Amino acid sequence: MGLDINRVRNDFPILNQVVHKKPLAYFDNAATTQKPLKVIEIMDRIYMETNSNIHRGVHYLSDLTTTQFEEARKTVRKFINARYDHEIIFTSGTTAGINQVAFCFGEKYVKPGDEIIISEIEHHSNIVPWQMLCERKDAKLCVIPINDLGELVLDEYERLFSSRTRIVAVTHVANSIGTINPVKEMITTAHRYGVPVLVDGAQAVQHTGVDVRDLDADFYVFSGHKMYGPTGIGVLYGKEEILDELPPWQTGGEMVDQVSFEKTTFNKLPFKFEAGTPNYIGGIGLAAAAEYLEETGLDNIKAYEKDLLEYGSKKLSEIEGLHLFGEAGNKISIFSFILDNIHPYDAGMIIDKYGIAVRTGNHCAQPFMERFGIRGTVRASLVFYNTREEIDRLCEAVEKVNQMFN
Ligand code: PLP
Repeated sequence: MGLDINRVRNDFPILNQVVHKKPLAYFDNAATTQKPLKVIEIMDRIYMETNSNIHRGVHYLSDLTTTQFEEARKTVRKFINARYDHEIIFTSGTTAGINQVAFCFGEKYVKPGDEIIISEIEHHSNIVPWQMLCERKDAKLCVIPINDLGELVLDEYERLFSSRTRIVAVTHVANSIGTINPVKEMITTAHRYGVPVLVDGAQAVQHTGVDVRDLDADFYVFSGHKMYGPTGIGVLYGKEEILDELPPWQTGGEMVDQVSFEKTTFNKLPFKFEAGTPNYIGGIGLAAAAEYLEETGLDNIKAYEKDLLEYGSKKLSEIEGLHLFGEAGNKISIFSFILDNIHPYDAGMIIDKYGIAVRTGNHCAQPFMERFGIRGTVRASLVFYNTREEIDRLCEAVEKVNQMFN
C-alpha cells in the first residue's frame, strides 16, 4: 500500500508552519517527535468532556476514564506483544523506567562485587542509574565496546560475562548515531548465562516496532513523546514472574492493599509500581499514538525511512569536509556529522536560519563522543513525515555553513 506522505503530513499540524521565513523542516525527532491530530484530539476531548481521577471512583466520569486508561494499557500490551496487561507499567518515561529497574532489581539482587553490563553507546539515562547502583552496592560496571562503525563488539560482550554478572542493560537503537543493536541475539547470550536483560527502546518502538516476547526481553522501556505520543508518560514492560518478585519503588496511594501504622501490604501488578495518580491522560494519548503507528503501518514506515536514510547518506557524504559518524550496517534514519573547522553549535545555529531544526552537542552520550575523540555532532534525525526535499534543503544549508566558515 505504501505511505501517503501528503496524508501523513496533514496529520501533524505543527509541520505546516514557517520558521525564519522558511517552511519548517523538523529533524530533531530523536529528541522528541511531533504529535498527530489523533493524539492531540483524544487528550483535548478528555480535558474538555470526561476528565476524572481513575480507579475506585463510583461516579460516571471516573468509571469512564478508568476504562479508557485500562484500555490504553491493553493497546500498549498488544503494540509490544506482551503476554499480560499487568506487565505494562506506566511511568513518566524511559529515564524513570530505567531508574525504577536499577533501584528495584538492584535492591533485591545486587551485592558487593557483582557486575552489571552496559555498552559504550548508551544514552546517559542507561548509564548513570547503573553507575549509582554500583556505588550504592559496591558493584562493578562492565562496558561493551563499539567498533569504528558504531556497532557493538559482540565477541567482547560475551567475554564480559562472569558468575557475578547480575543484569545487562543495553539500548535497542542508539540515539547518537542510530545503530540498531542485535538485542535478540544479545538476550539469548545473556540468558545462556542466566542473566536478565533490560532493553532501552526509547529510539526503537517508533522505527522498528518491538515484540518483547520474540526478543524474550526481561524488561523493555520507552517514552511516549518519542513515539508521537505525549510528554510525561512512558512504559516499563517487565515479565510477570520478575516483576512479582521485585520490591516497589515509589510508595503511597494506589500501590497499596492494606495500610495500618504497623504494616502495609502492596497492591498486585501493575498497580504495585504505579504509586500516586498516574498520568492517565498521557497513557490514553500514548495508546492513541501506538494505534496511529499501527494504522500507518510499521512496514510502510520502515520502508519510507530506509529510503530517507539511503538518500540522505549519499547526499550528505558528497559534501566536502562533512564527516558522518555511525555507519552501522543496520541503523535508523539518523545523520550525525561534524564539519571541518566548524563547531557543531555554530553549524546548528546557521542551519536553523534556513528553517531546519537539528540538534547539536553530545546527545547525552558523552562516553560515545569520547570514544571518537569529539565533543559533539550535528544530528539530523528523520522520521516518516520528513521528505527527500527537506534533505536537499539540509544539504544546501550545510554547503552555506561551509562557505561561511571556510
Ligand atoms: N534512552 C535513549 C536511547 C534516548 O534516546 C533517550 C532520550 O533521548 C532516553 C533514553 C531518555 O528518554 P526520556 O528523556 O524520554 O526519559
